[in-house]
Parts: sequence; C-alpha cells; structure tokens
Amino acid sequence: MSGPVTKLSFWGVRGSTPTVDPATWRYGGNTPCLELTAPDGTQFILDCGTGLRVLGSRWTAPVHPTAAEQSPSGNYHPETHILVTHYHWDHIQGVPFFAPLYAENNSFHFYSFRSKHLGRDSLKQVFETQMATPYFPVNMSAMTAKKKFMEISGGDTFIVGENKVTARFINHPQGCLGYRIETPGGTVVYATDNEPGDPQLDKELLKLAEGADIFINDAQYTPEQLATTRKGWGHSSWHEGVGVAREAGAKTLVLFHHDPDATDRMVDGLLRHAREEFDSVFAASEGMVIKLGSTDGTLEAHMPVTRTALRREAQFRAKVTGITEGGHTFEEETVVHDLALQGALLSMAHCPRLQSELQITMETPGTNGPKVMKLRGYVVRIDANQEKGHSAVGVVFTE
Ligand SMILES: [Zn+2]
Ligand SMILES: [Zn+2]
Repeated sequence: MSGPVTKLSFWGVRGSTPTVDPATWRYGGNTPCLELTAPDGTQFILDCGTGLRVLGSRWTAPVHPTAAEQSPSGNYHPETHILVTHYHWDHIQGVPFFAPLYAENNSFHFYSFRSKHLGRDSLKQVFETQMATPYFPVNMSAMTAKKKFMEISGGDTFIVGENKVTARFINHPQGCLGYRIETPGGTVVYATDNEPGDPQLDKELLKLAEGADIFINDAQYTPEQLATTRKGWGHSSWHEGVGVAREAGAKTLVLFHHDPDATDRMVDGLLRHAREEFDSVFAASEGMVIKLGSTDGTLEAHMPVTRTALRREAQFRAKVTGITEGGHTFEEETVVHDLALQGALLSMAHCPRLQSELQITMETPGTNGPKVMKLRGYVVRIDANQEKGHSAVGVVFTE
C-alpha cells in the first residue's frame, strides 16, 4: 500500500444494547464506536458506545516509547475529535468509562447537534446527566481532560487538519447525524441509525454517501422485518444499504449496528445476501481494521488473527480432555467449528459436564506452517441433538 493511508478500527458494532450472548461473540457485543486515523495523524472517534471503553483501555495501557511514537493508537494524543451521531444510550454509554477523559493532558473536541428536547449545549447536558447522582458515582467534574463541545447541524462542513468533515441529518427518532470524512487517504461515510422512507432525508443520505470509499450503514433488520414488525423503529437493512451504495456510487459497503438478537450465524446470512448483490461488502466486526490507500486505490481489511485466518478453515481437528457429566475423565479426538477469539463450538461424542473445564489441543494453520495451540475452555452450553450421537459443546476460552 503506497501513498497516504487512512485507518479505520471497529471497537463496537452492536446496535441498541450490548450483548454478552456467546452466540454473538464473533461479531462482538459492544455498542457503536469507531476510530479513524487520518494520514496526517488526526484522530477521530465516531460515537461513544461501550466499545469506547475498550479503545480507552488500549490507549492508556503502557506502551514502549518507540511504539507510541510510531503508532497513532499509542499513548500520545494531543487532540481527538469525537463525532457523536445522536444521544441514544447505545451511542453515549461508553463515555463515563473512557479512561482518557480522566487525564488532564488529553484534549477532546466533541461534536453533535442541538436536540430540540434539550436546547443549548445538548451534548454536554447529555454527558452531565448520564453521570449525575444517582446514576454514576462521580460527576463530570472528575473528567479532568480538556473538553470542548461543538454544536453542528445538517449540511455543516468543517476542516480538521487535512480532512473535511460533513454532517447531514438522517432519518431516526429524535434526530441523528451521519458523517462524511474526506481524508487524503480516501472518504469514509458513517451513517448508522437511519430508516429509509423519508424522501428528503433519503436524499441527504445519498448526498452523504456519494462516491464514498467506505460506506458504513445501519443493517440492523432483515428486509422482511423492516417491511413489517420493525417498521418505524429507525433502522435499515442490508438490502437498503446495497441500494444506497449502488445509487451513490460507494465502493465498499459495511453492514453495521447488528441487532442484539442477531446471532453470528444470522449476521453471516445477511452478509451472504448482500454479497450476492454488491461486490464489496463487509459485516462490521469488533476488532476489524480497514486500511484505505488513495494512491493505488487499494483497500485492506483484516481482523485479529484468531477471528479470520482460523475462521476461513471451516473446521479443524483437536484433542480434548475433560470430565463427563458422570464425573469420569475422558479424552477424544474432535472437530472444532466456529472458532473465535473468545470461544468455539466443538462436536463431541462425550457429553462434558456443564461449567467444567476442557483442555483443547489443536493444530491451526499459521503463516510459517501449522502451529499447535493449547487452550483451556469452560463449557457454557451443550446441545445434545446432533447427528451421530454427537453433542455441540460451546466453550469460552479462559486462557
Ligand atoms: Zn443505535
Ligand atoms: Zn438510535
């Protein structure tokens, strides 16, 4: 990749409320938070959902000084620009848990719109209120970082460093802003929490997305849900996203704001449908990083090794030892399905005891040939109704 590079990291991708259901671990359970690092080093954060806490702890972790200099995600952050789409819980709840706000050397510029329900300084009021007694143990005065609150509106454009930011209103209960960030490395459009069907706001969304390299769009519901039971709830589907991406000439579509009830298998299905109709589509996943280079027009997307490299192998063999429901130790050769960073699904002849520990030894493909991984898994779920008398055993890795 040559020329200026824009880096986009996904820290929270789940809509409405965080999930801790093991069936959602692959795409992740934290609510919206993205980090965009422009080629000039300008750092933007998009939304303050629970993913913000994870970003903050990564940032404050002690890092090697040279690594800090090289990496925009290191300790040194003179100024960060935080673009907030709207004030629903899932987009602000990470704020009280964002450690860098409690350090006086840090400086933040927050941007969002004036809510007609709150009036002036809406964003500041929202933050103060969510930390007010008795909702949180300390109030906002404990946040010693420098904070500036900027009120913006639909159609506003402003320049930060070498980057141009444009905000437009999109269709969502109580209002929501979509953001377009044009950087020398490419254009990223973030349009979550929007429902198609309002002719004026649909046009705004099209303008916002025009020619975007990356178009991140709300894909919470299936097209069927959107047409029936979820109509009027303020969200969209992969199908609408594909339509807008096509009409706006966007290059890559990212499905975002996954429903808290959507399991990983269900999100896989939405992604599959979208890929049948549009060339370049990803489903946003916690830990996913997209690098965008303008000079050679390349786009690189990757996820933490255990989430993607291993997933591509549909399944692989492992040796598992543990204890059965009856208290006997066992050892068996098995097949691991659906391996993720936090856990896996095993197909097993033995029925291990629920909430017991398994030792799992498996051979995984590595860049320098196969690698042996030894993991400890805690049995969280057993589905006995499997073919050939096997059980599907869900484990969460404990180390
Ligand atoms: Zn939301
Ligand atoms: Zn919302």
